Amino acid sequence: MQQIERLIQLLARLPGLGPRSARRAALQMIKKPDTIMEPLARALVDAADAIQACGTCGSIDTRNPCAICADPDRDSTQLCVVEEVADLWAIERTGSFPGRYHVLGGRLSALDGIGPEDLNIASLITRAATQEVTEVILATNLTVDGQTTAHYLTERLKSTGVAVTRLAHGVPVGGELDYLDDGTLTAALRARRAL
Ligand SMILES: [Zn+2]
Repeated sequence: MQQIERLIQLLARLPGLGPRSARRAALQMIKKPDTIMEPLARALVDAADAIQACGTCGSIDTRNPCAICADPDRDSTQLCVVEEVADLWAIERTGSFPGRYHVLGGRLSALDGIGPEDLNIASLITRAATQEVTEVILATNLTVDGQTTAHYLTERLKSTGVAVTRLAHGVPVGGELDYLDDGTLTAALRARRAL
């Protein structure tokens, strides 16, 4: 039972899984060792071994630079700034953004004591200052912290001379990108406005 308890405790730490759903997930795995449990265990070990942070954009991939940074067909004039990798994935799922990304690794938060030096901001300014980048799209969440972060970045980016835009219509106030449907996110991206 000790192994099962440990499995349930670990599962319960995942977002969206409370103790009850963790128990259900564990039971489902135990019932299907060949089709779920063992393949999942292998996938977890493989992923833990292979995944690394991209030194350019801060996303995660099995290679560094990541597939997006290494792709010569991506538009290198547009840089889309997101808080987390989940936001990058959400925008990629829409298939409507041809440019490249920069993952901050969080958002500014006075409450949580997160300042500019805790995020990938210095590397963003450096990237934005390069000749090829002409537009930085701020796709931080429309939460209080996300907005604060966008305002801060707008100020910091002024010295680079790039056009700074922000996601507009469609994203509800307080909304998090990862929870939006593809259509809403696509509309928000298209309707971005200059700051
Ligand atoms: Zn990258």
